[in-house]
Amino acid sequence: MDTSPSTRPAALIDWHSMFMGVALLASARSKDHRTRNGACIVTPDNRIIGVGYNGLPRGCDDQDPIYWADDDNDPYHSRHSYVVHAEINATLNCVVLPLTDATIYTTQFPCPRCAQAIIQAGMRKVIYLREKVHHASANAAAAKMFGASGVSCEALEAVDPGALEWSTRLATFIASGNSSDEDV
Ligand SMILES: [Zn+2]
Repeated sequence: MDTSPSTRPAALIDWHSMFMGVALLASARSKDHRTRNGACIVTPDNRIIGVGYNGLPRGCDDQDPIYWADDDNDPYHSRHSYVVHAEINATLNCVVLPLTDATIYTTQFPCPRCAQAIIQAGMRKVIYLREKVHHASANAAAAKMFGASGVSCEALEAVDPGALEWSTRLATFIASGNSSDEDV
């Protein structure tokens, strides 16, 4: 059998692409019609230890419209009271502990609550895919805490432009699908 380098698969992806890809695939499981996010937690030696997406806690019925309501002035009728963010779910889903020195790949810049969990769980690095412009103040709050605690937070674009291109293509593919209504 020919095992020379020239016979390697042409589309071999790098680690950043793989981990952001896993975060994106997880996002494709989200039933949140407004934003579908995913996250993937990785050890320093490149083992995936946690994956999550934004969704309701176990037992909460996805068909109940209360959970997805948009009245931010009334916590009972606000989705923010119910939806567990991808970063938190990935942290709570971790198959091994501790999370010390782990990296979390996220499809979205983490909100302040998720930043708190990332810091307190001992993770040291965040690599995010995209950032919502209208979340600038919340993102600044998260960045302030990351800075104070020594957690690095970088855009995939800055870490690995090739991985950004690959992830963007995967994100486009996921966004073009219409499988969300046929859930199992
Ligand atoms: Zn969050």
